[in-house]
Amino acid sequence: MGHKVAVFSSKKYDERFLTRYNKNDAIALTFFESKLSRETVELANGFDAVCIFVNDEVDAFVLEKLASFNVNVIALRCAGFNNLDLQKAKALDIAVCRVPEYSPEAVAEHAVGLALTLSRKFHKAYNRVRENNFSLSGLRGFNFHNKTVGIIGTGKIGIATMRIFKGFGCKLVCYDPYQNEQAIALGAEYLDLTDLLQCADIISLHCPLMPQTQYMINKATLTQMKRGAMLINTSRGGLIDSEAVISALKDKQLGYLGLDVYELESELFFEDLSSEVIDDDVFQRLLTFPNVLITGHQGFFTEEALTTIAETTLGNLHQLFNKQPCENLL
Ligand code: NAD
Repeated sequence: MGHKVAVFSSKKYDERFLTRYNKNDAIALTFFESKLSRETVELANGFDAVCIFVNDEVDAFVLEKLASFNVNVIALRCAGFNNLDLQKAKALDIAVCRVPEYSPEAVAEHAVGLALTLSRKFHKAYNRVRENNFSLSGLRGFNFHNKTVGIIGTGKIGIATMRIFKGFGCKLVCYDPYQNEQAIALGAEYLDLTDLLQCADIISLHCPLMPQTQYMINKATLTQMKRGAMLINTSRGGLIDSEAVISALKDKQLGYLGLDVYELESELFFEDLSSEVIDDDVFQRLLTFPNVLITGHQGFFTEEALTTIAETTLGNLHQLFNKQPCENLL
């Protein structure tokens, strides 16, 4: 058996994929369901590395503990690292690596799936037909063909989303501080944000959450949108002011809302809370609208993306254990 790795926040699918791609059991993997935090860090004692995900809490205290246990590698199974004190890790000589891209198509396809379901109401039709109710009342949608789609953030996922909408025969407009030639090659027109909001029938968010983008969808920008427009967010919950969106839905200014992310999702997502009382009134209000569709951060959750996550994570660990260069080192 080789180096020992403690895998935190482990779900059945993490175990399945990491085990499948751990060729010859080269790395000794131990799976913990609990997240890595101040309370659980003792579990890492005796391991060479820890492997973590989006909701693990790796602050200076946790890092110092890890260093005292001689854990000198942290492998993130995700791209983002806002949950980790990178500066402190560097000061303690702990190597941190990540999976910079899961699968842009996985998230793009999910975004378009949300949009199509909101328009054609598959979720309602599915239940209705199962009850032998073949009435079409309330199921009327609209064609995507010839509609204007506004993509905010033309990076990897934004471009993948544009490709799909182009296939529907949509007109593409986009906004990003940095122009991407691939967007122009797809026939998209770069606009400023206000112009995009004014002309788009469907708006899809694909930019990162940063101080400049926090609440970019707010009372003012919602007012600039076409009345009845559709908004899709598969990026980060904090891009949207949820209370402003609720007002816009009540006023019928916003026609449809599709979310895979939510500002306070870390309290809710990835767990079965079906027997719990949810005390987030904003989230609960969002669920009451017939024209709102929410999924629990599953954009990345495909066979292909999980394969990439497992292969890249194990590859990163091999490289770091063997003192080889690792391009995914932070
Ligand atoms: P990327 O880095 O390739 O692209 C992000 C783009 O946003 C870049 O082109 C950048 O210039 C642009 N941008 C930066 N500031 C902007 C601003 N103020 N306004 C508009 N655009 C701006 O990233 P990506 O791989 O395409 O991922 C996009 C986002 O998707 C990530 O930030 C992440 O939050 C989210 N994501 C979600 C899931 C999921 O499961 N739902 C999975 C992976 C990533």
